[in-house]
Parts: sequence; C-alpha cells; structure tokens
Amino acid sequence: MTDTVLVTGATGFIAKHIVAELLRQGYAVRGTARDAAKGLDIVQKAMARAGVDATRLSMVTADLTRDEGWDAAASGCRYAIHVASPFPITQPNDADEVVRPAREGTLRVLRAATKAGVPRVVLTSSTVAVMYTASHEPGHVYSEADWTDTTRSDITPYIISKTLAEQAAWAFARETGGAPELAVVNPGFVQGPALDPDLSTSLEVQHLMGKGAYPGAPRIEFPVADVRDVAEIHVKAMTSPAAAGERFIAANGTATLYGIGQQIAAALPDLARKVPRFEMPDVMVRGLAVVDKRLRTVLPELGIVRVCSNAKARDTLGHEFRSAETAIRDAALSLRALKII
Ligand code: NDP
Repeated sequence: MTDTVLVTGATGFIAKHIVAELLRQGYAVRGTARDAAKGLDIVQKAMARAGVDATRLSMVTADLTRDEGWDAAASGCRYAIHVASPFPITQPNDADEVVRPAREGTLRVLRAATKAGVPRVVLTSSTVAVMYTASHEPGHVYSEADWTDTTRSDITPYIISKTLAEQAAWAFARETGGAPELAVVNPGFVQGPALDPDLSTSLEVQHLMGKGAYPGAPRIEFPVADVRDVAEIHVKAMTSPAAAGERFIAANGTATLYGIGQQIAAALPDLARKVPRFEMPDVMVRGLAVVDKRLRTVLPELGIVRVCSNAKARDTLGHEFRSAETAIRDAALSLRALKII
C-alpha cells in the first residue's frame, strides 16, 4: 500500500517542492491549507509546472491557530512534515502574532500525529533558531549544537517564533508518551526555483531587487540554501533511521544582499541597473532605519558574517548540496520565466 505523508502548509514555496519530491518518490501526499479547495488548485498547478503527476495529492483544511481539522489531517499518515509557519516580510509589532501560530501550531500537529500513531514527524525550523546565540564570536562556525538565545533583545519576532516552535517540538518529543520520532531541518535563506508566482519572503527579496526597489544594499550576509536541497533533505530526514532525534542544517555557503543583486544581474543582464548598485555604509542604514521600519530588522546584522556547517546533512544523510550561486541564479531565472522580474 502507498504510504501517505501529511505536509502542512502545502501551498508554501518550500512545501510545494517537498510535495513534488514526495510525489516523484511514489508517496501519496495529504497537504493542509487554510482553504483546502483553493490550496488544491494552487498545488496542482505548481505540480503541473514541475512536471509531476498530482493524482496522489489531496488537501484538507487546517489552521495553525485552531484545533479543528488536525486529527483528521494526521489520521492514517505514515509520516508528517510540518512546514507551515508565518514568515512575514515585515515584522509585526506584537511578537505573539507570529510566535503563537508557530509554537501552538507545531504542538497541534504533534498532538494530532501522536493520536494518529504517526511514527515520525519532520519539522521545518531554520538556521535562525541556531545562529543567534548569546554572544557571537567572529569565526565561529555554527552547527546543530548551537541554539538561539530568545532572551536577546535584538532579534526579530520571526527568529523568536522559529526558535520557540522548535524548542517546543523537542520538549514534546521528550516528554510525551507515544510521541512520534522527531527530526528537524534548519534551512538557511532559501533560494532556488519558484514553482508559481506566490513568492515566499525569501524570493520576494529578489522580486523587489529586480524591480529596482533598493538602490543600495545594507552590509548583511547569511547562509543560503537551494529549495531543491531543502526538499530532498526533508524526505531523507523522514526515512533515514539515523535522523531520528536529530537536527540538520540545510545551507551551503553564504551570500550578501549586494552579492545576490549582482548574481541576479549576471543571470539577467537587463536588470543590471535595477539591482542594488552599492553597499550602503552602516551609518546610512542606521539613519534610514529611523523612518523605514523594514530596515530596523537588519541593524543587528550589519557587518556580521554567520557561517554554518552542513557536515551533518552530508555525513548522516549523504546529501550533496547545490551551490548558493546555483540557488540564486535558478531563482532569478524562474522569476523571469514567471514574468515576475
Ligand atoms: P511561505 O510563506 O511560502 O509558506 C508559509 C506557509 O505557512 C504557507 O503555506 C502558509 O499558508 C502557512 N501558514 C502561515 N500561517 C499559517 C496558519 N496560521 N495556519 C496555517 N498555515 C499557515 O514560506 P516558505 O515556504 O519560505 O516557508 C516555509 C517554512 O520554512 C516556514 O516554516 C519558514 O519559517 C521556514 N523557513 C523558510 C526559509 C526561507 O528562507 N524561505 C528559511 C528557513 C526556514 P497560507 O498560504 O495560507 O498563508
């Protein structure tokens, strides 16, 4: 009998790639969306663009902030991959707007999976749950042993939401009788091809750059992941016996915002005058942040390079990563094919 995999937030950028990978590997997929009918249409169209047969895809309605729907969603599933979580481009004033759906939603999925006897759950966390440790030592290479300190006053609600959700999941797995095995994937800033025009925050950055929204870029740098690697690692973490109880960083190399712009221009030379043309001095960013709320979130990042090791995903899961350059270039080319930039 075909194994069914529950994929939460199946309409999202990363989740659609996970659904495609699962369907390619012969699994049946039960996706969740806040509106299942709309969600089915979106995911089916994305699968058609990816050249994947979506006959074994179904969708159910469930919201991270409500109890209804989760038990039925998990029932009969062999695995669950919990991807859904709010990822806003602008940070809310009230951290709870993202923290509650992230943490409580994760617990709803885990409770439903436990009731349904699902043996393993894979959670999509982030490198942001790893890298904002109590202090930053230049040159430190972050690994799965590192944890963000949520008492820091300079981190965003999104960073707090991902860290608290992941910590809640590990506590649940440790303390709940009959809980599923847990494996966690911690992706960097995710690039790679979009399957449809509904962009995640991480590709929205390319969209805005391609539209000429940023003449200059703040001096920030972060780990980059290719969405195809992120999807494949989720599926490997789902089945690998060695993955139970483990976190896996999914990222390969870093990129600066300015560098992303330059790579977009290299892939699409007509955008050379639209992408950021210089790196903004930090003092300029600090000044502009007084009026531009979006810039405030980058202030603690200025000039800091955080590097993550992906050795564990390579060694334990046997994963070969695409380069950050490939991820950025293929994202740009996909946005051009979708007529977005
Ligand atoms: P998207 O915005 O494309 O996907 C987010 C998904 O979460 C959407 O399907 C959205 O559903 C769903 N969601 C949000 N709030 C709720 C809610 N209250 N109830 C049910 N579903 C909800 O982003 P990504 O694909 O990029 O992100 C997916 C996951 O990967 C998230 O957990 C994110 O934190 C994580 N991640 C992303 C990175 C990146 O750079 N993209 C990096 C590291 C981690 P709807 O369509 O209904 O809004």
